Amino acid sequence: MLSSGDACARFASAVRDMAVGVDVHCHINGCVRDDTLLELASARGLGEEARALVLDAPRDLMSCFEIFKLIHEVCTTREAVRRIAREVVMDFAADGALYVELRTTPKNAPERGVTKDSYVEAVLDGVEDACGVGGGDGTGKITARVILSIDRGRDDTAAKINETIELALRNRHRGVVGIDLSGDPKAGSWDMYEPALQRARDAGLGIAVHCGEVANTEDEQRQIISWAPDRLGHCVFTVRDAACYDALRASHIPVELCLTSNVFTKSNESYASHHFKILRRDAVPLCICTDDTWVFRTTLSRECAIAHTHFGLSLEDIRSIMADAVRFSFVETPVKTKLLARIQGDTAS
Ligand code: 5GP
Repeated sequence: MLSSGDACARFASAVRDMAVGVDVHCHINGCVRDDTLLELASARGLGEEARALVLDAPRDLMSCFEIFKLIHEVCTTREAVRRIAREVVMDFAADGALYVELRTTPKNAPERGVTKDSYVEAVLDGVEDACGVGGGDGTGKITARVILSIDRGRDDTAAKINETIELALRNRHRGVVGIDLSGDPKAGSWDMYEPALQRARDAGLGIAVHCGEVANTEDEQRQIISWAPDRLGHCVFTVRDAACYDALRASHIPVELCLTSNVFTKSNESYASHHFKILRRDAVPLCICTDDTWVFRTTLSRECAIAHTHFGLSLEDIRSIMADAVRFSFVETPVKTKLLARIQGDTAS
């Protein structure tokens, strides 16, 4: 008899074989390969520290953020950033993805000769190594685009926030398509970010905002939803507050759902009680994403298998959710059309 683990693995394998995966919410430095992280950490004498970071039990979001300190410490050289961006894209391709929208926070590491400009350049070089010029045109095995993140914990002045917008605008020709607001959800306030995000939106960049990741942020959630970003990340606590949830439903903003991430960080008690179920019941637009494959020890095909196991999604449901994810993505329209045609096979896009 098949165990539920076997059934889950078989479904994940079938998802990989379909090769229709689309992930629009994954943070590059949360998706570093085990071997790469250990190699880079060991070269800096931090191998043991890196090994100790592998999570074997759930931790809250804030302690997960601690992990990024060491990852950033060992991964922020131009060579490493380029390698990691390439490997992340290749790993998604091996997992059956045909489009990935990677997000990352531009960083300065003057002691290693890294500026925010050269960091972004290295990310885009890595994406090009994996996908070809500009991250590909929708016809290759995998196409990728990049979103630049504003880190609520660190980008604490208008100048720093605006610098990220400028960097994104300067690098559009190489595949930067949007801006994300992420990092410590308790740091900063929406009023600080809104003017810069508005400027980015006016200039044609897509905007994705992490929303409702922690409790007691209802006022901010309502502000964010009424500003209407193109996509919202997580929305765990949005669903738990009637006024916020009404606003979300009325807005029709697509939600990027990261099942394992939310369960691992104890934002959701279990997969079975994940708000995926409520959003799907209420026909809220949604997509399935990984967030941080390394931190949460997952893959996109595994997340799909979890949705199958706990919410009864079929392979055709997965195909349809992936087609929606392309529609919600920030990639240029001609590429979107090609990707949709590939996902839908003979069905009209
Ligand atoms: P990076 O931007 O360095 O490529 O990826 C790691 C960064 O992404 C973290 O330092 C953090 O700012 C952000 N990040 C990763 N996962 C999450 C998450 O689940 N929630 C939020 N708010 N930010 C995250």
